[in-house]
Amino acid sequence: MTGNHLRTASRSAWIGALAIVLSFSGPVPRADVRAQQPDSGRPRLLVLLATDQFPSEYITLYSHQWTKGLRRLLDEGALFTEGAYPYAGTTTCAGHATIGTGAYPHRHGMIGNQWYDRELDRTVTCEEDPDVDPVVLSEGTTSNRHSAKYIQVPTLADELQRQRPGAVRVVSVAEKARSAIGLGGRGGPDAIVLWKSSGRVWSTSTAFTSRPWDEAVTFLQKRSITDDFGRVWTRLLPESAYLFDDDAPAEPEPAPWTRTFPHIVHSPKGPDDGLFATAWGRSPFADEFVIDFAIHLLKARELGRGDRTDFLAVSLGSLDQAGHQFGPRSHEVQDVLARADVAIGRLLDALDEQVGRGRYTLAWSADHGVARIPEEVEAEGGDAGRLGPLRTLADGLLRWTLGNERYVGLADGAQLSLTPDGLRLVEDRPDVKQLLMSALAASPGVTKVFDRATLESSEPTDDPDLRAWRLSYFPDRSGDFIVVTKRNWIYGARSEIGTNHGSPHDYDRRVPVLLFGAGIRPGKYDTSASPADLVPTLASLAGISLSTAEGRVLTEALVR
Ligand SMILES: [Zn+2]
Repeated sequence: MTGNHLRTASRSAWIGALAIVLSFSGPVPRADVRAQQPDSGRPRLLVLLATDQFPSEYITLYSHQWTKGLRRLLDEGALFTEGAYPYAGTTTCAGHATIGTGAYPHRHGMIGNQWYDRELDRTVTCEEDPDVDPVVLSEGTTSNRHSAKYIQVPTLADELQRQRPGAVRVVSVAEKARSAIGLGGRGGPDAIVLWKSSGRVWSTSTAFTSRPWDEAVTFLQKRSITDDFGRVWTRLLPESAYLFDDDAPAEPEPAPWTRTFPHIVHSPKGPDDGLFATAWGRSPFADEFVIDFAIHLLKARELGRGDRTDFLAVSLGSLDQAGHQFGPRSHEVQDVLARADVAIGRLLDALDEQVGRGRYTLAWSADHGVARIPEEVEAEGGDAGRLGPLRTLADGLLRWTLGNERYVGLADGAQLSLTPDGLRLVEDRPDVKQLLMSALAASPGVTKVFDRATLESSEPTDDPDLRAWRLSYFPDRSGDFIVVTKRNWIYGARSEIGTNHGSPHDYDRRVPVLLFGAGIRPGKYDTSASPADLVPTLASLAGISLSTAEGRVLTEALVR
């Protein structure tokens, strides 16, 4: 063998090794897509896009079905394939507040969609605020009173407005108030934060404006959810393009529908009946509406058109509502995704036209993933199920041992909160407390139970569940006991829900973490990343500080 041969052999071995290293350790910039460089330094618009209930697994399973917006984000964006929440309480309110602030529930305080308020001795929701009044933007009336008062740290939008006073326009639109507020924050003189309240009504509150915004009213004079009354939801793609079975035996049959296509978005009692609004929310027509609303406000508010860095947040909710009923393997979820792909494509086209390619930066994530329908896993021979009623168990045991008293304030998902009197009685009797914890831990689907002292302790731990639940723990709001579930065991009766989320299992924590547009180097990155990293990265591109964020700037995806 000559020296030349040797060199050739060792060089090809080296190239082979390099290819292996690159393929496993990323980042791997795509050669066919040029990074979009902002023409004047800072992006003119920052966009937060949230898809409610989107486990990363959907990219693996279904991305071959996408050809428009989601396809473009995956092909031209920077995808963090290991993106996941590090905390355990994977709910809508927690996720949106984390995406919006870059902090975790132990700091931003949004531990769940609701919690037990010991002083008020009642359950409060994460977005409620009795001190504000509703401001209705459409036809109809509502009693919804919502604000960001429970979010303990500023969102990126809040900081943009504080650090660039008078020079930032903000729009946040979602079907759910907790999503619009978690992404948008507290609002301001040039901020629009709005959501759909009950039925056909769209609203905001006096926390955000004293009178309806003309731009929102104009849209809602032309469009109402009742335009979709009687609309038939059929598959967008040929039936053969869908994986798994539409008529899967474990799928529930949520009224007014069966478990198979087509689904008529209606109610026998007419368009004002709540059943119609529920069916509409589960259909992809809700996402189409929200995207159209966002595009209208983008144009009407001239976002990204001035010498400013504006902010747009959009959260799509259809996937969550369809997913809770039909599960992550359903044709319904696949179709909501296929139609979200088209709708997001329209949003990207509007951004290109309105702001210009390379002049805006978009971050995409989800508030949580979802478990499979437990009965489906069971039918395949897996260990899966639904937790029993923890309130009944706890109340029964404590009445039997300590006497007649109202012990449980709220049992919600993993959280069990006792009333102040109930907690005092239990803390006075360590034997009873131990009995309660043992009984909870022994109930089907539960692996262990943490008490308040364990969650509050700063003692380092090797237990990943405890680490994750500590990040979800906020003293005034969290339960006195946290019930940790086995994999594929969910909260929620089958009569109410097909499947659920809210656990520290990977299917709930792993979500898309993706950046796209100005300043972003496309590629797939396998470094660890969290949805909390997105707003610090956007803040750094916009040249503002976000000191309360816990996420990091995803420097590996930035154009250097
Ligand atoms: Zn959600």
